[in-house]
Amino acid sequence: MTGKLELRDIFVGSSLGTFVGDAFGAVVEGWHPKLIKEKYGLMKKPMNGRYTDDTQMMIGIMEAIYLDPELTQQNIADRFLENFDSLRGYGGRIIGVMNKIERGISADKVGTDSWGNGAAMRVAPIGYYFYDNQSELINHSVKSAEITHKHPLGVSGAVAQATAVALAAGAAIKGEEIDITGYVDEIVETVSGISQEFSSMLSPLKGFVSTDIEGAIDILISNFTRDVSAVGAVPAAISAFLLSNNFADAVIIAVNAGGDADTTGAMAGAIAGAYYGVDGIPKDWLEILEEGKKGATYINDLAVKLSEMKLGSNI
Ligand SMILES: [Mg+2]
Repeated sequence: MTGKLELRDIFVGSSLGTFVGDAFGAVVEGWHPKLIKEKYGLMKKPMNGRYTDDTQMMIGIMEAIYLDPELTQQNIADRFLENFDSLRGYGGRIIGVMNKIERGISADKVGTDSWGNGAAMRVAPIGYYFYDNQSELINHSVKSAEITHKHPLGVSGAVAQATAVALAAGAAIKGEEIDITGYVDEIVETVSGISQEFSSMLSPLKGFVSTDIEGAIDILISNFTRDVSAVGAVPAAISAFLLSNNFADAVIIAVNAGGDADTTGAMAGAIAGAYYGVDGIPKDWLEILEEGKKGATYINDLAVKLSEMKLGSNI
């Protein structure tokens, strides 16, 4: 960390960080880390800039906050449906939820009992927008999760990831280094009210130490399943952030650990993007991100608008 960041750098960094981490990992989604190593060695940068469901649903949350920062479940659900593109790699249960929203069933009644990582992968905007208000952060994270994921582990994943983004944003605003023990303790404490099972997976993060990228990847592989479960993926993404010293390494660690790599890449990118800001993301990574109706420029501009709205609300 070098100096304080502006809200704008943080909001754009976390949004485009999600996007680029998602696109980076999507190429090897579901792969065993050994297979990644055999085929690519260490993957050091994204090979393409096409996002998946993780980023598409994050855009929906950004739009819902912009529409009304009181953030109703129905506004979020409507944006999810409006943006829904079945070719972006959605899971079957989410497609079922989309069908229900389309049929007019209200947003509080469409969710499943999923413990998957789908509520966490998209939650970054709630993390950065409500970084300075813990009760709103938790309230909105839970509500946004329950549209699709009602299981306590699925909800915990969203709250843990939003808190990880929020703490990174709070440190970046002040220009402070991350105190790993304090950072992990705060996430553990926040999540323990929802699921002890989840929070107990986070405590060991305080003891992880690695001097290089390969060692950090091994730590993720040996401690977490890195799969579609929230409890297997979210702590892995947070670890990738804590075991690195810059944006690129955080995402490289998450993606090369394999498994649900687009989602762990997206979540590590969201946290690291909040902490290092948009200028911390390598230029050549940003240049390949897809454009189009809701591409990189759209996401960038919406993040800037949210930062301006947040500044206005604090006056
Ligand atoms: Mg995905």
